Amino acid sequence: MTRLDPLAELVAALQKLPGVGAKSAQRLAHHLLRTPREEVDALVGAIVSIKERITYCSSCGMITDVDPCGYCTAGDRDARIVCVVEQPENVGAVERTRGFRGRYHVLGGAIAPLQGVGPDDLRIRELLVRVGAGGVEEVILATNPNVEGEATALYLARLLKPLGVRVTRIAMGVPVGSDLEYTDEFTISKAMEGRREM
Ligand SMILES: [Zn+2]
Repeated sequence: MTRLDPLAELVAALQKLPGVGAKSAQRLAHHLLRTPREEVDALVGAIVSIKERITYCSSCGMITDVDPCGYCTAGDRDARIVCVVEQPENVGAVERTRGFRGRYHVLGGAIAPLQGVGPDDLRIRELLVRVGAGGVEEVILATNPNVEGEATALYLARLLKPLGVRVTRIAMGVPVGSDLEYTDEFTISKAMEGRREM
């Protein structure tokens, strides 16, 4: 491979980011070129620090810099209700509704055979162990309202119900085929209120 000049190298690296096309990558690279050195250092430092300091909570799978995470240790959160989401950013989406004060469990994705993601690739065993240990009364399945999310919810419901917990699914006020991350707080809030038994 031919060596790229520094600017082209940065453009190529930026283009690997989600949602960044060739034009945006060019624009960002030139913007960074004009940005004062201290600001660039701060940005680089912030990027490096998420790789060095952020890890996953051994209990719920949320990203955190202390293990167990703040959600798992907060005394004012109800440990009897666990909301299951696909990705760490979905926790933020549910939190913004300010209506949920239980705990979380982050799967790390959804079952998607076509992409080669099976149950063993997700934190499903950890969820079953957690629920099996007792103390959990309800599991709210808040996987995304698309084909993979629905299939994952059904799969989890089948495994969880024999453990004697209430299993609910968020209502589908959330547009079908969408991602929780991009759903507004009001809709998520209504979806949580209108959750149904599985
Ligand atoms: Zn946690």
